[in-house]
Amino acid sequence: MKAPVKSSASSSRVNSIVTASRAPRANERSEGLFAQLAEHHHEQVSLYADPAAGYRGIIAIHNTQLGPALGGTRVWNYESDEAALIDALRLARGMTYKAAVAGLNLGGGKSVIIGDNKLKDREPLFRAHGRHVESLGGRYITAEDVGTSTADMEFIRAETSHVTGLMGKSGDPSPVTAFGVYRGIKACAKYRYGSDALAGKTIAMQGVGHVGYYLAELLYNEEARLIVTDIDPARVQRVVQDFKATAVALDAIYSQQADIFAPCALGAIINDETLPQLKVQIVAGAANNVLAEERHGDELEAKGILYAPDYVINGGGLINVNAELHGWSLERAHNKAGEIYDTILRVFDIAREHRIPSYLAADRLAEQRIATVSRVRQNFV
Ligand code: NAD
Repeated sequence: MKAPVKSSASSSRVNSIVTASRAPRANERSEGLFAQLAEHHHEQVSLYADPAAGYRGIIAIHNTQLGPALGGTRVWNYESDEAALIDALRLARGMTYKAAVAGLNLGGGKSVIIGDNKLKDREPLFRAHGRHVESLGGRYITAEDVGTSTADMEFIRAETSHVTGLMGKSGDPSPVTAFGVYRGIKACAKYRYGSDALAGKTIAMQGVGHVGYYLAELLYNEEARLIVTDIDPARVQRVVQDFKATAVALDAIYSQQADIFAPCALGAIINDETLPQLKVQIVAGAANNVLAEERHGDELEAKGILYAPDYVINGGGLINVNAELHGWSLERAHNKAGEIYDTILRVFDIAREHRIPSYLAADRLAEQRIATVSRVRQNFV
């Protein structure tokens, strides 16, 4: 099991389940609950139990300065209640940053339900969760996450209107996410090569699932050369056939002689083992929590590899959920995801100006927007 990541910045790069599923050691528990909230300025934590429904849930609200806190519901068999709380706090904070850089009027929150996510009889659990969400009066809006589905959201909907990701609504976020990642990759190319054209560029993709497939299509249409890997041979075969990709073994993806590495599968894949193997100039993909630890972001920088911070480039999924909340058309959601191009360039500009790595520059950009909007809204009107 990984050591906990001491993150001074966004939690989106913290592999939260892995990190938090270890119960904190005694000396880590010396601070009280309010001290934990104060450490990263969380506003509120709500605990609710309904023994009849088998429900034990935590809703963490990190920041609502930009709008209601939005973040999915995760169901996980945590090793302890405290591990669940830490996960909720980290994930909620990550959502604040993701929404802020995406230019959305949403805050950051997250909920966790302690238990088996393969549970068969789900209605009581998710209706209890819906009541918990409802009790917060709209300060928190939930959606899907690990261990939940659109069907679960329907049970929540029976108890509260503060839920998105419903059946027949915004649907699969992957096309919008892929489009945002594609625009982000183009921005990286612009910054690194002076042109955002991807024709003739070689892109090594790890994972060609939902997002990866759509991304491969966009890249292929622009005449990029694709090298792909996936643990699922059928998915590899699909992109080899459809987009003339070259398949390589799982572990070979890191050492490919390519221009860009696009991680679209797992988190924590920029780490001590993989970093020395990289021959690319750019790392930019859909995966969450790409950096195993912050220092790996520093090391990418030191190697001269341009890194598109994960929560900036993969913000299309959240944009898709926001589109559902506000009744946006798919076209409008796409346009918003397309703005990731400019956001990535702004992140790189901040990094250059302040001589900081891009992952820290992304945090700065998010914090700047929250501070600016908060100042604008300080008067009574
Ligand atoms: P997915 O499960 O559809 O695709 C992931 C793919 O990675 C699968 O095909 C899987 O077989 C493959 N994979 C798993 N382990 C692998 C390994 N060790 N090596 C190579 N391939 C491996 O998931 P997705 O929805 O496409 O999401 C991909 C990534 O993007 C995830 O990290 C996810 O958190 C992130 N993300 C997704 C969205 C979205 O809209 N779906 C939004 C934001 C971020």
